[in-house]
Amino acid sequence: MFKEVIVAENAGFCFGVKRAVETSTSANEDNNSTIYTFGPLVHNKNVIDFLKEKGISHIDMPDLDRLGPEDTVIIRSHGVTPEVMKQIKSTGVQVTDATCPFVTAIHKRIKEYYDLGYQIIIVGDENHPEVVGSNGWCNNTAIITKDGSNLDTKAKKICIVAQTTEKKANLDKVVEVISGLGGEVVTFNTICSATKERQKSAEETSRIVDVMMVVGSRSSSNTTKLYEICSKNCENTIFIDNSSEIPKWIFESENIKKVGLTAGASTPDWIIQDVLDKLAAYTEGCR
Ligand code: SF4
Repeated sequence: MFKEVIVAENAGFCFGVKRAVETSTSANEDNNSTIYTFGPLVHNKNVIDFLKEKGISHIDMPDLDRLGPEDTVIIRSHGVTPEVMKQIKSTGVQVTDATCPFVTAIHKRIKEYYDLGYQIIIVGDENHPEVVGSNGWCNNTAIITKDGSNLDTKAKKICIVAQTTEKKANLDKVVEVISGLGGEVVTFNTICSATKERQKSAEETSRIVDVMMVVGSRSSSNTTKLYEICSKNCENTIFIDNSSEIPKWIFESENIKKVGLTAGASTPDWIIQDVLDKLAAYTEGCR
């Protein structure tokens, strides 16, 4: 039996994801048209299945040809390039933009500094939809880097931004590399507050537990980063998609007294609660 389960202070759905899910479901209720999201709304299978049950599915660029004015397309929190937005609108569909305001703020920064002649550097995952979308705001000219190791620019004016879910340590590394190259550097720490809070509380919790559970999808960038952060502090850090993946050894080991739990910004409350319910049967307390 565990002594206690400690839930990280900030865990689960962030403001931007919650807003995107609510926008989609309420559009579905209010509207006679069929609702589609442009790409999977979040990187979490449980949420995608939930939306599917409500009749909301996702489409990609090639599917646009078969849509028309009677359909609604929701832009997810990751945002899109101006070009993609133009293409979607040109089909005549109704468009609801659920781009997270933190992402929109990055688009504005990138456009402003690109127009002023700065080379844009984005610290993040080059294939992540948010980064792909952001790159479109400087005509796809950004240099995208994880940690600065691939940087060798001769640009005289450089503007650095970060993917909203990036680790601060990676942004710091890139700033250090770029500062060493000379030239004018403007840096915006665009890691969003939801990410900062989740990473901070996950780090704190993982320091004081015997097992740390990270709940969410492996395809979620922000959840994966929580896993990486917790793994540094707690060697028994495990990644689970839902309660069915809780390994048996957690319940069998005599040495496990404290179990910590965090969850990515795309992990819904009902999945977290389900994990807590399963742990509760083996727990003396929860905080
Ligand atoms: S992780 Fe941050 S930027 Fe991304 S949707 Fe959530 S609040 Fe918005």
